[in-house]
Amino acid sequence: MTQTSTIAIESIRKKVQDKERVSRAEAEWLWQNASDDQLIELASAVRARYHAPDEATYLLMRIINYTNICVAKCDYCSFYRLPRAKDGYVRDKEWVFAKIDELVEVGGDLFGFNGGFNPQLKIDYYTNLFGAIRERYGDKIEFYGMTVVELLYVARLCKLSTPDALALLKEAGVRWITGGGAEILADSFRLRHSPLKYTVKEYMDTQRDILDAGLHTTGTMVIGFDESLDERFDHLETVRNFQDERLNAGKEGLFSFLCWTYKPYNNELGGEEISSQEYLRHLAICRIYLDNIRHLRASVLTQNQAALSGLKYGADDFDIPWEDEVTQMAGAVIEKDVDRVLGYASDAGFKTRYRHVAKDPAAACLARSK
Ligand code: SF4
Repeated sequence: MTQTSTIAIESIRKKVQDKERVSRAEAEWLWQNASDDQLIELASAVRARYHAPDEATYLLMRIINYTNICVAKCDYCSFYRLPRAKDGYVRDKEWVFAKIDELVEVGGDLFGFNGGFNPQLKIDYYTNLFGAIRERYGDKIEFYGMTVVELLYVARLCKLSTPDALALLKEAGVRWITGGGAEILADSFRLRHSPLKYTVKEYMDTQRDILDAGLHTTGTMVIGFDESLDERFDHLETVRNFQDERLNAGKEGLFSFLCWTYKPYNNELGGEEISSQEYLRHLAICRIYLDNIRHLRASVLTQNQAALSGLKYGADDFDIPWEDEVTQMAGAVIEKDVDRVLGYASDAGFKTRYRHVAKDPAAACLARSK
């Protein structure tokens, strides 16, 4: 290590110890120069502001893919079918109930609804479905009603403002939306791969509307396409600024931040998967840089066993996924042996506890690091 490098790591280490904020330039320097051990040390120090060093939480979760029809045509997507495709589908309530019952039977209680931009599905489809779920299951389960981009699509399709669409969804029993559809929050990236999936501003404005409507939401990111380092850091800076804006105004912010990795199979974009080491290093950078978000989540869905090493790189929470057609069609392999997955966490040195979204209030959204 050169003298300049030593000085840089020492000054960043001191900042982290003093609970001062690391700048974007410093985070970029860490990404390019810090060893894995240094990243682990710094990420663990930020993690310890919020969580006991040897504890982590998890959820058992199923993504319910209610339709695969989508007109957005993102080139990295392996899941969508265009309208009138022979294998396109829209699921009904009974099908959804069966999926919920199956997971409840094995101890899970969280569901995420994820479909596509389906021009046939107006807001009534969602309010009827979510209303029926809330009526049948009450508070026994919790669900992410849809992703940010699906919400925006259906609101525009129905010529509703986002706040008006949110009011209808809330009335039907929706409490959470998830930050899905972010991928990389840089317009250059979105123009290359998903020009119909909204700009960064439209995405962030919708996140703001969700929180202002009194619902909870999360931050997400996907890495491993062809994004540049600048585009990755644009994403992190946008999210950190957004969270500052919310918390500084005394308002609720993003509950958590989840990063997962692109799977390159069966789609137009193709490419190769990034290594788990790259994912883990990125996770550490997320923990160090996003010092204003309480929960950093690791992706078992796309990283399997390696995701549990992510607890050492700053993550404090993870899903054990039961099903997600979107990533499975792109090459994700789901391991349903809960004990084995928890064993990986234990091997990494962490005690785990189930986090019931339905029972644990989301007060943590407001908490800042001390
Ligand atoms: S990633 Fe989502 S929005 Fe894009 S094509 Fe696939 S289903 Fe549609």
